[in-house]
Amino acid sequence: MNKTYKSDVVIIGSGAAGYTAGIYTARANMNPILIDGQQPGGQMTITTDVENYPGFKDIVQGPWLMEQMKKQAESVGTKIFNDTIVEVNFKKKPFQLNGDNGSVYIGKSVIIATGATARWLNLDSEEKFKGFGVSACATCDGFFFKNKTVAVIGGGNTAVEEALFLTKHAKKVFLIHRRNELRAEKILQKRLFKNPKVEIIWNSVVQEIKGNDNPKKVTGLKIKNIIKKKDQDIKLDGVFVAIGYDPSTNIFKNQIKLDGDGYIITKSNNTHTDISGIFAAGDVTDKIYRQAVTAAGMGCMAALDAEKFLAK
Ligand code: NAP
Repeated sequence: MNKTYKSDVVIIGSGAAGYTAGIYTARANMNPILIDGQQPGGQMTITTDVENYPGFKDIVQGPWLMEQMKKQAESVGTKIFNDTIVEVNFKKKPFQLNGDNGSVYIGKSVIIATGATARWLNLDSEEKFKGFGVSACATCDGFFFKNKTVAVIGGGNTAVEEALFLTKHAKKVFLIHRRNELRAEKILQKRLFKNPKVEIIWNSVVQEIKGNDNPKKVTGLKIKNIIKKKDQDIKLDGVFVAIGYDPSTNIFKNQIKLDGDGYIITKSNNTHTDISGIFAAGDVTDKIYRQAVTAAGMGCMAALDAEKFLAK
């Protein structure tokens, strides 16, 4: 039989925003229910070294940090459910959320902290070789490219961090970027430029990922220099796509106001959405800062906003 769970607040998502919302709402006696989703712990679980989360002088690991946040949320009373919300009804109150496993969650308020997921190049050849040499997670798959040649696509922090991480395994790492300067932080750029295993290919976009069918594996890339308008073939074994993220808001379409890029719109100085009682925090609503620490801060804000809403 399907189970129904009721609470003052249901939190969707288990990244830094979701767990922080759990900590604050639990401490406010709101008996939060947190649904952890398809990637418990969120994007930080596919990061290695974290050097900029305040409170730690030494480098900490992303998965470890999220485990600590989870334990803290649980220890103060957040009930964490291993489920994924597949449908919501925000048209009537209390709000109803349906889980993939058949459970139904009823909340007087809801905090959406579903984060964002990796963006792909949308090439047919990329789709074909996903899992066969094409990946969006160097920390997950880098190990398989020991002494091989790989390419990272992108020019942001993620691309540079992935490229640096891959130098620990691969013998050569190309970083292919569509412009002639990187978007990544200067400190990361400095490390990248200094690394002898890295070769940067500027002003270039991927045309095709090449590979064999039997056994299915990547063998190279066809790229185009957009300034010189010239194609180039590169032989390599793996391609890591690191071109940013899209907000995870599919289930909220037609339920809540989203902007043109699919991010949840919140009021300018708080976490209220266009529906009273529904709040949003973290990368699902933030396309500017997108840091674990800003997501955690917004999780706290959403919890305080939800507490005030219920007190009314
Ligand atoms: P990002 O900053 O949005 O960078 C995406 C990169 O991919 C950009 O260089 C962009 O090129 C390129 N790109 C986008 N679409 C493309 C396409 N279709 N084809 C080719 N290239 C494409 O994304 P991110 O690096 O994933 O970072 C996301 C956020 O997380 C940022 O705020 C970042 O600071 C943060 N982050 C922080 C850390 C850290 O602090 N340690 C680590 C990882 C991420 P253009 O530059 O030309 O636009």
